[in-house]
Amino acid sequence: MTTNCAECARLEREKQAARKARYMSKVTDCDVLLKRHPDHNKRSVRAGRGRA
Ligand SMILES: [Zn+2]
Repeated sequence: MTTNCAECARLEREKQAARKARYMSKVTDCDVLLKRHPDHNKRSVRAGRGRA
């Protein structure tokens, strides 16, 4: 696993499950959500969850 982010890990698993099920719209969904979750790529993950 390349991320420490629990949410991304969950999305990643969901994406793989969706891909196995050939549920491509859900795969895309997960991709979008993963891309929207860049916080851990920057500085502090635990700084605060309230920020957009
Ligand atoms: Zn994340």
